[in-house]
Amino acid sequence: MREALLLLRDYEQSGQGWFWSTDAQGRVAYISDCVAKAMGVTGGLTGRPFASLFNLERDQDDAVERTLPLILSGHKTFSGLALRAAIDGDEVWWSISGRPQFSGSGDFTGYRGNGADITQSRRSQRDASRLAEYDSLTGLSNRHRMSTRLASTLTAYKAAKRSCAVMMIDLDRFKQVNDTLGHPVGDELLKQVADRLRRVLDDGWEIGRLGGDEFQVMLPDIDDRGKLGEVARKVIAIVSQPYSVEGSRCVIGASVGVAIAPYDGITSEELTRGADLALYAAKEGGRGQFRFYSTDLHSEAERRRRIEEDLRDAVAKGQISLAYQPLVDPVKNRVVGVEAVMRWLHPDLGEVSPGVFIPIAEETNLIVALGDWALKRACEDATRLPGNVRVAVNISPAQFANVNLPASVMQALALSGLPPERLELEVTESIFIGDSDRTDAMFTALKQLGVRLALDDFGTGYSSLGYLRKAPFDKIKIDKTFIRGVTEPGNRNGAIIKAIVSLADALDMDTTAEGIEAHDELDVMRDLKVKQVQGFIYSRPMALAEVLDAVSNGEWVIEPNGPSKSRAERITLLRKIGLIHEDFRYEATMRNLSRTGCLIEGLLDVPVRTQFVVDFGNGQLAVATVRRATGSQQGLEFEVPLVDDGAGGLVTRNRISPYVLAAAGMPLAALPAGEYPLGPPSANAATSFTMPKFAQMNEAGRKALRPQGRQSDT
Ligand code: C2E
Ligand code: MG
Ligand code: MG
Repeated sequence: MREALLLLRDYEQSGQGWFWSTDAQGRVAYISDCVAKAMGVTGGLTGRPFASLFNLERDQDDAVERTLPLILSGHKTFSGLALRAAIDGDEVWWSISGRPQFSGSGDFTGYRGNGADITQSRRSQRDASRLAEYDSLTGLSNRHRMSTRLASTLTAYKAAKRSCAVMMIDLDRFKQVNDTLGHPVGDELLKQVADRLRRVLDDGWEIGRLGGDEFQVMLPDIDDRGKLGEVARKVIAIVSQPYSVEGSRCVIGASVGVAIAPYDGITSEELTRGADLALYAAKEGGRGQFRFYSTDLHSEAERRRRIEEDLRDAVAKGQISLAYQPLVDPVKNRVVGVEAVMRWLHPDLGEVSPGVFIPIAEETNLIVALGDWALKRACEDATRLPGNVRVAVNISPAQFANVNLPASVMQALALSGLPPERLELEVTESIFIGDSDRTDAMFTALKQLGVRLALDDFGTGYSSLGYLRKAPFDKIKIDKTFIRGVTEPGNRNGAIIKAIVSLADALDMDTTAEGIEAHDELDVMRDLKVKQVQGFIYSRPMALAEVLDAVSNGEWVIEPNGPSKSRAERITLLRKIGLIHEDFRYEATMRNLSRTGCLIEGLLDVPVRTQFVVDFGNGQLAVATVRRATGSQQGLEFEVPLVDDGAGGLVTRNRISPYVLAAAGMPLAALPAGEYPLGPPSANAATSFTMPKFAQMNEAGRKALRPQGRQSDT
């Protein structure tokens, strides 16, 4: 017995565990010294309520805490109960066990039990579960947590008919940074991106990294596409600010895809896939953009897969050619050069734009072979042009990063016999992302060959004037996005172009303005003394045969030809829409669309101030009022302006909920285009004999319907 007591004392002193007992009222009768010490209590704990040693108030992981008083008052046996100690500061956790004691006559006399400190093991257990849920690099939620959170939110929201948006974010050019500056820099960059995302996104939105450079955000209770577009724009803007990572400066971008429950899907898989498709479309649209999911993206994804598959053999099959767009001296209208742009005529898909297939060629490494082919072809073609016409060839960043580029330029020159000063290589700012020593070495090697270098698309990226000073460019090409708006009052692009031109003059560089379409834009370029102009006002890119034809009689001069004024972009389109008025649905053709209204054709003699509900399809309904009317055309004004869809189009801010449609007997999951009843069908619609108010024209523009109600009026 004495031996047992000694052993217990040793155990107590080793700190591995402790003993306790209470009286019948639950007050401490005995407790090992180490407990008082841990709690910082000097006078001992005897006489205190046992339950007061624990922190039972705070909101903990589970409900165990609240059960302790119940267990004690019920005189129940318990073991391994994990409780937080009533100690301020760092969390301390105890595991306790206890057994009720009874007198010979069966009366409860108190508890006896033991306890141990389990803080350490609890902490590592929590770390482990954290690891399973969070991304260790950025601290954001991981893919697993995102998908379970999304699934549970959507399930709960489905019952409550609430909406939830999912945003997929992918970094542009991250791979380039990772490949050229190394993985440690790439990792640091991802951390900084995560910090920025946390800063711009609301606290209630779960942010995750799904892997690589792909991020996802869940935005509960948001379906306003105007607001989502703003969030997407904010994300793109903050991610695109330059980074400083371990002494290197780098610039990346972001593309964003958005899908919204319940409109675009109601399960986590549907929504994630929808946001993914939208992201793809955003990337395809030129990166640095956002897109909303729409049902036509499925066929676009299919098209992209075909393009990827068929690009490999396109050159060999002779489907790819070069077109040449003139670069013109705007004072004399004389052509001084041509830019070679690739054209791909796919047997089934038709014309595929280089804006689509060049990025794919870059991702699949086909760009080097494709670029080589273009260099050779362009040099050869150029030898058939007058000696004062230069040829410009686009060089993608992947080609520029390839050490073989100077050799392949040299080969193209040697094979064709084209003098090097007649070849101009166009590169974009993104070549500056990589290792600057290698970039400098490439510039030197190319300059030694005697070719000219142009900085393309200036004004779309970072447009750092520092690049101009550093690199041996012969020309700056001012991008068309910079030109647009230059003729609008109050626009500052003109002043900036002026500064670029004077800087270029000082550095002995040429300037080319790209994308000039209208006479007023051309006039501004002449005033600003831009040396060359390239754009539809002079010519679209043309086939070699046409070029040869144009130069056949010596001097190549083109008279500018285009609209007199550049117009703020208005989307001209012919699209069928539905018009709902009273209980009738009419069909009309939309002739043009702006944020605030549209011009429609198809109904006759609609009075001004008539209100319609315009049905654009896919649950997009807009209340509109007729403001102008002439015969079969009406100008409508929307009650709520439309919002940007990220692709230069417009969409309604909100859509009619599929739940409303479901209530009206429409299926929830798949939304057919068009024809949505407005709320539950009214019971008397079928029985009351209202007449359509307006006459509908058919395709050929003849009256198809002459409602009797109106006939009697005339
Ligand atoms: P880029 O080098 O900036 O080429 C100019 C683009 O602007 C061409 O588009 C041209 O058709 C278009 N453009 C010219 N004038 C006007 C105008 O007045 N209005 C409008 N709206 N557009 C105008 P394209 O041919 O679709 O080429 C797009 C881009 O694809 C090129 O932009 C270039 O970055 C890339 N690309 C084209 N060919 C090649 C190539 O052979 N190699 C590489 N690496 N990239 C190429
Ligand atoms: Mg170019
Ligand atoms: Mg350009």
